[in-house]
Amino acid sequence: MMNNEKVSSLWELSKPGRQAVEIPVSDVPPAQLPEGLVRNEAPALPELSTLDLVRHYTRLSKLNFSIDSHFYPLGSCTMKYNPRINEKTARLEGFTASHPYLPEEELQGSLELMYKLQESLSDIAGFEETSLQPAAGAQGELCGVLMIRKYHESRGDTGRTRFLIPDSAHGTNPASVAMAGYEAVEVPSDSRGNIDLDKLKKLCDSSVAGIMITNPNTMGLFEERILDVLETVHACGALAYGDGANFNAIMGVVRPGELGFDVMHFNLHKTFSTPHGGGGPGAGPVGAAKKLVPFLPGPYAVKNEYESYGLFMPETSIGRMKSFYGNFGVLVRAYSYILSLGRDGLKDATEMAVLNANYLKEKLSDIFPAWYDRPCMHEFVSSGESAPSGINTMDIAKRLIDYGFHPPTVYFPLIVPEALMVEPSETESMEMLDAFSEALHKIATEAKEAPGLLHDAPHKEMVNRLDEVKAVRNPVLLDPWKS
Ligand SMILES: *Cc1c(COP(=O)(O)O)cnc(C)c1O
Repeated sequence: MMNNEKVSSLWELSKPGRQAVEIPVSDVPPAQLPEGLVRNEAPALPELSTLDLVRHYTRLSKLNFSIDSHFYPLGSCTMKYNPRINEKTARLEGFTASHPYLPEEELQGSLELMYKLQESLSDIAGFEETSLQPAAGAQGELCGVLMIRKYHESRGDTGRTRFLIPDSAHGTNPASVAMAGYEAVEVPSDSRGNIDLDKLKKLCDSSVAGIMITNPNTMGLFEERILDVLETVHACGALAYGDGANFNAIMGVVRPGELGFDVMHFNLHKTFSTPHGGGGPGAGPVGAAKKLVPFLPGPYAVKNEYESYGLFMPETSIGRMKSFYGNFGVLVRAYSYILSLGRDGLKDATEMAVLNANYLKEKLSDIFPAWYDRPCMHEFVSSGESAPSGINTMDIAKRLIDYGFHPPTVYFPLIVPEALMVEPSETESMEMLDAFSEALHKIATEAKEAPGLLHDAPHKEMVNRLDEVKAVRNPVLLDPWKS
């Protein structure tokens, strides 16, 4: 349903003869194009002045929520502030103007950055070696599972067909395992939200290739018996993959490699503060323990004699995951973030993220108590189930938009009914957390006294409640105001 405010499309703003670009007069002779390729009429494009065009897109950009404009507690996505220094470094001409086909001698600066980022990540997470190839967390997962597969094959251990996935896992986990040719087998959680160790023991046998664990898990809870879990898995000859998307909760405090994880991906775009969302580029480097290093995707950066840098493809590598050097701009931003915070700063960021989440969890405990009653890490999951009947989590989330907040993640993880998953991140102030809590308290009161306000929310945006299924199935991309 549309609200009154209307944004005209470029077509409606178009006036014949206006133009937003000045194309310089060509000073080279026109090329001779084959007859059939020459256009006889100008293409039908909107015609606008530069200022009209700038205003149009600026206006559109303001209709969106962004971290730069709104609190964005989207659980699991780590929508922290993206420091501008990262943008400055990523735009240095030495990086932006170097062509990926340049010979290694002329790419020394870029290779050095890759090498140092690899070393930093290995150090922060306790791994032997890191490859920067994967383009996203999900691709890192696929990559790590393929490495585990190759490890078993290299030992002639070919009977392992199953991969264990806790029931709180992110949807990409079972998908990655299935893409790598394994059967995903669910491991239930126990009453404290941990992996159920007894059930895990029953599932572990010589048909299991590995387990994929997110720690802290998507409930924002640290696996209290992680050492026993990893020992159980290793005892049956399986390996442990770490989904590192929640590394923001333990960075600088816990090294997953030292806990016993064999391979893990980092979400540079989450933990290491590079802008994400909206399908922009990410990076999901994988760190490997010694026994999996020979299978890392390549090429990755190495330091040669005489302090020069080169590229290396391990002989038994699973191969390439991505063209050229991965999403290079994201790598520059992440390295810039690591250098600007330093060892102590990374730890501080983690501690603040955990503190902020626990503060908010307590502030909301009278209206939306956390599903598991124990201290959380960087995020927590509540339920909209306690709201008056007829009000669901979607209503609460949409009403938050009217109060100027991006909603938390909803209906995930799947093991919590009406889930509301809140991740404030370390970069928010106490005042902002208080304001968010106050808004949710008002919404909880409205839910009792004026439920209609919630059902139709949001009210103040361009569009109010959308039929999201219909929007996905039948997108109207050209001019929604026509219909
Ligand atoms: C974000 C996320 C992923 C997937 O990462 P992408 O970079 O979006 O592919 C996997 N697991 C968890 C727990 C996540 O939060």
